[in-house]
Amino acid sequence: MSTIDTAPGRLPVAGPAAVRRAVGRLLAADPGRASAVLLLYLFAAAFSVSVPILLGKVVDGIAADWTTGQVNLVCAVILACVCVQFVLSRLGRLAGYRFGERAAARLRESVVERVLSLPLVRVERAGRGDLGTRTASDVNVVADMLRDNGPTVATLVIEVVVLYAATFVASPPLGLVALVTLPPLYLAARRYLRRAAPAFLEQRAAMSEAAETVGASGAGARTVESLSMQQERRVLGYARGQSMMDRMLRVVRLQTDFFTVLLMINRGQLLIVTLAAGIWYFQGGLTLGTAIAAITVTVRIANPTNGVMTQLGEFQQGAAALARIEGVNLVPAESRDAWPADAELRMDAVTFGYGDGPDVLHGLSLHPVRGERLVVVGPSGAGKSTIARLLAGIDRPRSGSATLGGVPVYDIGVEELRRHVVLVTQEHYVFTASLRDNLILAAPDATDDLLEAALRRVDARWALDEGLDAMLGDEHRRLTTAEAQQIALARVVIADPDVVILDEATAGIDPASAGRVEAALAAALAGRTVIAIAHQLQAARSADRIAVVEGGRIAEAGTHGELLAAGGVYAGLWHAWQGD
Ligand code: ADP
Repeated sequence: MSTIDTAPGRLPVAGPAAVRRAVGRLLAADPGRASAVLLLYLFAAAFSVSVPILLGKVVDGIAADWTTGQVNLVCAVILACVCVQFVLSRLGRLAGYRFGERAAARLRESVVERVLSLPLVRVERAGRGDLGTRTASDVNVVADMLRDNGPTVATLVIEVVVLYAATFVASPPLGLVALVTLPPLYLAARRYLRRAAPAFLEQRAAMSEAAETVGASGAGARTVESLSMQQERRVLGYARGQSMMDRMLRVVRLQTDFFTVLLMINRGQLLIVTLAAGIWYFQGGLTLGTAIAAITVTVRIANPTNGVMTQLGEFQQGAAALARIEGVNLVPAESRDAWPADAELRMDAVTFGYGDGPDVLHGLSLHPVRGERLVVVGPSGAGKSTIARLLAGIDRPRSGSATLGGVPVYDIGVEELRRHVVLVTQEHYVFTASLRDNLILAAPDATDDLLEAALRRVDARWALDEGLDAMLGDEHRRLTTAEAQQIALARVVIADPDVVILDEATAGIDPASAGRVEAALAAALAGRTVIAIAHQLQAARSADRIAVVEGGRIAEAGTHGELLAAGGVYAGLWHAWQGD
């Protein structure tokens, strides 16, 4: 596996070999169209270069006293060549566009599929900027390359090769002379590409970072405002913007240097060929027609060569973008194929920490009893939400086990897991989609009747009134927190799991809606094992059992009465909360 870069958390970037394989895959997926493009351009170029060669023949023919008829015939052939070249290159362009469009569509689909199958933890760690850049702008860059630059460069390369071949046809010695500029051209291009490759990668990474910073400042605007962090965010945003600009300037500088060298090489080539042709002509080594044909062909070499070189930069950007897209593939696939024997969820001697950080849970064990309402309480930062994440299979313990029905929760396929365990947090995401699509996430096969029954169960009358086809999401209908929560709870009812884990699920609800949401919650949870992470002790009082977490360990467990009688941590928290 070859990778370049990667800041902590960022998804990997594929190496050149993987990028080449990806290009091969894109070509191989549509071999008929790819070869049609190539052949059409090859013939178009052949017809195009026959024009100067035939013109050379006309010049020599006139010198050799051709009749007007002979000259007219060759001129007619030249005209025919131009027409055929025009038609073939148009057809090639069309085929190139079609090929590019299809390849871009395939790429888009496969990227979305891959990102959706990434482990959730990797998605969280990668951040919105990195994922957004890869799935949107990187895919666009590659799609443009496939649609535009790819076919264009294919044409230009073919044209360059055919033109060089044509100088040999016109005059083998002059053909050889024209080749002298190839080594310096190759060296200049190699030097440019070596420097440009990392520069483009850095530029794109800087763009992700800038997007991430600005996006996060926007998304968290209220928090930024309430903590008076505007200045810090501005400074950070400015710094990231500045670093993006610096990297862009570096790319521009590299390009300018390269094109200056390129111009000198082109002019040099023309000068050498013209001098050689002139000298040979005056020495009687070649005819005027041949000299003119060879010089005209050489003049034409500069254009497509420059075109290819200009596109090298685009290709480099495309390759950098493709390297980042392919990098998503390098994230090790998860084999989540374990099947739980029953619905018993438990944690045994679990040690866990985030990333490379220190342990935040230390040998913690928790055994919820089926059908009970277990409330987990403890001070902030004790590890309560972390317990929820491990029980829901989002993270894997460093040691010890979190199991459902005897198998590690993390190894159970997401669809199977959803039938047993559902985590509800205070983030109730509503997608920009119909109400039906928002609900069906929980069970793709659910019928409309089932969806409506779930809405009735959580008393979401507004949703029933608006109907399953109603469009939700910010640009259609912005839901209140309480409404979004009802959707989340309806999803629980639809998924019908054995165990529901609530992590501060009712936090952020305004008191006016609290009663309705509590009722919806009770309806959604009836008959299930409930593990509720509570940050307010009030919720603990009515629990079947309370587990008190402190410093990543279970400090004590029991009913409200038992824990008060024991006079331990819980009793202390309770009295403090009561204001005793
Ligand atoms: P609680 O829910 O009890 O407030 P958490 O489970 O959220 O506590 O956090 C336990 C510890 O893990 C804390 O020290 C917290 O800073 C750390 N932590 C939580 N989430 C992350 C994360 N995504 N990355 C790194 N550390 C984290």
